[in-house]
Amino acid sequence: MVKAVVGANWGDEGKGKITDMLGKEADIIVRFQGGANAGHTIVNNYGKFALHTLPSGVFYDHTTSIIGNGVALDVPVLFKEIQSIVERGVPSPKILVSDRAQMVMSYHKNFDAYEEERLGGKAFGSTKSGIAPFYSDKYAKIGFQVSELFDDGLLREKAVRVAEQKNVLLEHLYHKPLIDPEELYQELIGYREMVSPYVCDVSLYLHNALKEGKHILLEGQLGSLKDPDHGIYPMVTSSSTLAAYGAIGAGIPPYEIKQIITVCKAYSSAVGSGAFVSEIFGDEAEELRKRGGDGGEYGATTGRPRRVGWFDCVASKYGCRMQGATDVAFTVLDVLGYLDEIPVCVGYEIDGEVTTEFPVTRLLEKAKPVFKVLPGWKTEIRGIREYEKLPENCRRYIEFIEEQIGYPVTMISNGPGRDEIIYRSR
Ligand code: GDP
Repeated sequence: MVKAVVGANWGDEGKGKITDMLGKEADIIVRFQGGANAGHTIVNNYGKFALHTLPSGVFYDHTTSIIGNGVALDVPVLFKEIQSIVERGVPSPKILVSDRAQMVMSYHKNFDAYEEERLGGKAFGSTKSGIAPFYSDKYAKIGFQVSELFDDGLLREKAVRVAEQKNVLLEHLYHKPLIDPEELYQELIGYREMVSPYVCDVSLYLHNALKEGKHILLEGQLGSLKDPDHGIYPMVTSSSTLAAYGAIGAGIPPYEIKQIITVCKAYSSAVGSGAFVSEIFGDEAEELRKRGGDGGEYGATTGRPRRVGWFDCVASKYGCRMQGATDVAFTVLDVLGYLDEIPVCVGYEIDGEVTTEFPVTRLLEKAKPVFKVLPGWKTEIRGIREYEKLPENCRRYIEFIEEQIGYPVTMISNGPGRDEIIYRSR
């Protein structure tokens, strides 16, 4: 049985908390895409953790945490993250890394930074974790796969070949220091030492686990709107953020994914540039940003303030559709308790016409939000565990959004903690 936890929006919806919570019943948790560019924040009995590479399951001693082949594996970050959680008293996690995963090299991070520098004001707002150069190289077939670390001859030859190609750009486009093939080879050898205890034929492992009836959780990074095909291209990430890709990025059959839990936050937030129709500004935004999430809406990796806005039914309906949501987990609802009234974006006005269908980027840039204002509930809802006990206006807010997006809200998160959840039957 495979479940996926994925985001409906721009990321930071609270997937980490939901994965951590569902991890209790999972035997295996798999990251299937993305890299160390985004972070999950998890609050549990060991403390508060920002994970960038490790799956959220590392805090349970009964789960195996897997880095799937679809991930942009940053070996030193993985290694440091394992060390840092163990130092804080978490039992040594069981981790497996796919032998087919490819690695982010230090030159990928440099290229990321150089490209942002070159683009200047037109930059994409990359986190400079090397993700875009990494995936470009993967598809240009010059990436380094974990399995290759165990073939010295191949590494030496490939280090020379890759340096040759990269150095043309470094010299003529970026005017930056060149790559020395010997140093590149040494970097790879260092990665081999760090990663070798974890390397595994992951798809075979999962195949056997499925035969044994094990519970597998796929953990997505970012959200539908950052998908390279279905998102707000080009302001997207470089690997697919959709549950469908979970099959590829983990190496399992697509029909095994039975439940797609799509996480929607009770308001919107985004990092980086790109159209964000329901965005708010000024004091109104600052207030929401400060109160948002758990300790404010600031990036888990970069610490930079996130852009915030009201809930966007148009984007979320589309986001759920592209994920194939079987369930919506509606998160961070407790944060909205301070508002007298809560605007919700119910349509986009584009060239004088209102639509509820999410458009392509060219039209999205022109979209103006159509808001409907709902009454707030003006109380603290943390601690409530039954849906009926939520204030009436709070239930109305959930039910209004559920009707607009057309997917069932079966979980409501009213606090960052693992047990701060309200289950609701359809
Ligand atoms: P992810 O990348 O989708 O996992 O999202 P983040 O790690 O950015 O999570 C959003 C933030 O919200 C984190 O700081 C979480 O601890 C916090 N969080 C998650 N669910 C809730 C909730 O229901 N209420 C509150 N107040 N915070 C939450």
